[in-house]
Amino acid sequence: MNKKQKRTIIVLSSVLLFVVCMLIIALSRGSKYVIDFNTKSVTRTIEYGDTFLEPNITAVAHRRLFFSKKIKLKVTKEGNVDTGTIGKNKLKYYATYKGVTSCITITVNVTDTTPPVINLVSNPDSFTSPIGEYVEEGYSAVDNHDGDITANVVRTPGDGIITYSAEDSFGNKASVVRKIVYKDVVPPTITLTGDTTIPVEIGSEFTDPGATANDDVDGDVTKTVTIDGDYDINTPGVYTLTYSAKDKSGNVGTAQRIVLVHKKQVASVNPGDHVVYLTFDDGPYKYTQQLLDLLDKYNVKVTFFVTNQYPDYQNLIAEEAKRGHTVAVHTYSHNYAYIYSSVDAYMADLNQMSDIVLAQTGKRPSIVRFPGGSSNTVSAKYCSGIMTALANTLTANGYYYCDWNVSSGDAGGTISTEQVVANVTSGIAGHDVSIVLQHDIKDFSVNAVEQILQWGLTNGYTFLPMSESTPMEHQHINN
Ligand code: ZN
Repeated sequence: MNKKQKRTIIVLSSVLLFVVCMLIIALSRGSKYVIDFNTKSVTRTIEYGDTFLEPNITAVAHRRLFFSKKIKLKVTKEGNVDTGTIGKNKLKYYATYKGVTSCITITVNVTDTTPPVINLVSNPDSFTSPIGEYVEEGYSAVDNHDGDITANVVRTPGDGIITYSAEDSFGNKASVVRKIVYKDVVPPTITLTGDTTIPVEIGSEFTDPGATANDDVDGDVTKTVTIDGDYDINTPGVYTLTYSAKDKSGNVGTAQRIVLVHKKQVASVNPGDHVVYLTFDDGPYKYTQQLLDLLDKYNVKVTFFVTNQYPDYQNLIAEEAKRGHTVAVHTYSHNYAYIYSSVDAYMADLNQMSDIVLAQTGKRPSIVRFPGGSSNTVSAKYCSGIMTALANTLTANGYYYCDWNVSSGDAGGTISTEQVVANVTSGIAGHDVSIVLQHDIKDFSVNAVEQILQWGLTNGYTFLPMSESTPMEHQHINN
């Protein structure tokens, strides 16, 4: 290579070097540092109350040159997201490098698009009568933003349903429907035509007077009435007929009637005016003999309602009958708790006494007096309805039960002979026919009899012993 050639190479190299240098300088000028984030500025929406997840924002700095190295930068944040408040939240992210700061904004919109929740309270046993009004079982409404909005619930009754609607303060709506459960549980009511107890004389005809039935929902259901139960017109007894009526829901109402088949009763005879039946309960006892002698003295016949409380005096029952008095049954034991515990118990006690009377007098008694009278309420303590059942049973079996219309008071507050005389004579004076209650186990009461007889006989009264044709005094049965 000659000198000229060498110089040319040097010049060209210099020019090339110059051009490259100039190019580098030019590129450097246009490639200051820039900052890039991993996301752009955006707007997001989040539901009220939800948890906001912080975005992972990163930033790098680099020159514009494509081969420039990326430098990871620290990102600082400004602002917060409050998901407990409806509205816009702005989050600003900053990164700085070599005097260059860059920023992006993430806008977070907290909104409420969640409707309220309506809860219905349902009682599994609840139902509505087909003719009744639905009784609200309860409801509540809760909104994620507004809280308890039960007060805002609108309740709309429909055909067999109730609609409950609620709206929150952002217009989110909810509604639920309740189906009303209709049920008829009330049975028809049966009304018996005629009396609930019908006495029928043995061997005669009985025609059922029937019954009507009415239901609260279905109305007249008389056509569904059926009658159950048998009776034997030829056998004395207390027979129960059961009437049943059914409504469309299958509820059955019942009513009962008693057919009292009884022996032919002796018709009572009006004994006329100024008639007194003296009766003595609870004996015989140690004062009975004295009483029998006194009655003989005045030739007056009375009625004894006897017991077996004092068996030592049992032979006086025979004496009572022998002297022309009527022997009737009061009770064997005089034990209320036993005799009023059941019809069977009462009849067993009565039969025991009847056997004694038969043995003493040769005749079964047919007249009976209940301890405490037929109107007593103490029996309800031992058996509900026992007096009604006993009265029916006695009648069916040919017995006559008799209470009293004049009380001497000797079983209660009265303890003096004078007072017994006063009570009995004033009582007799108030009745055409008197049935007087005394007890021959009380000496002061037995001691009153002579004055009562003297007063009665001198005032035109007739003293009679009871018989089956005596008009029986019946107090009102209360049990
Ligand atoms: Zn008594």
